[in-house]
Amino acid sequence: MEDTIFGKIARGEIAVERLYEDDWVVAFPDLNPQAPVHVLVIPKKPVKNILDLGPEDRELAGSVLLACAAVARKLGIDSSGVRVVLNAGSDAGQTVWHLHAHVLGGRALSWPPG
Ligand code: C5P
Repeated sequence: MEDTIFGKIARGEIAVERLYEDDWVVAFPDLNPQAPVHVLVIPKKPVKNILDLGPEDRELAGSVLLACAAVARKLGIDSSGVRVVLNAGSDAGQTVWHLHAHVLGGRALSWPPG
């Protein structure tokens, strides 16, 4: 797959505030936040989106979800509520082609999404 800005972030070639990191993932603030808390969790392995995951990616997929919960706890939005969004494909609004989970919270969020 083609390299993306998130690939460069994952490899440490672009500096971001690393709010959470483990062997599998990195989490950093979204540049254009849509809520008081808006963090992106990306796998270090370059994967386009969830539709690109295979059975070998179980640990990666689980690590992304666990990191989302860790970020919610760290930033204090675990008691009020957190939304995790994974856009996959252009109709879903995906603009960066490296899997990323949006962790949103800090205000009441409406539903359904647009
Ligand atoms: O799900 P989608 O692909 O639309 O989300 C991409 C997200 O990446 C956007 O929320 C955008 O603000 C964020 N972004 C970022 N830093 C960049 C490029 C994009 O935080 N350098």
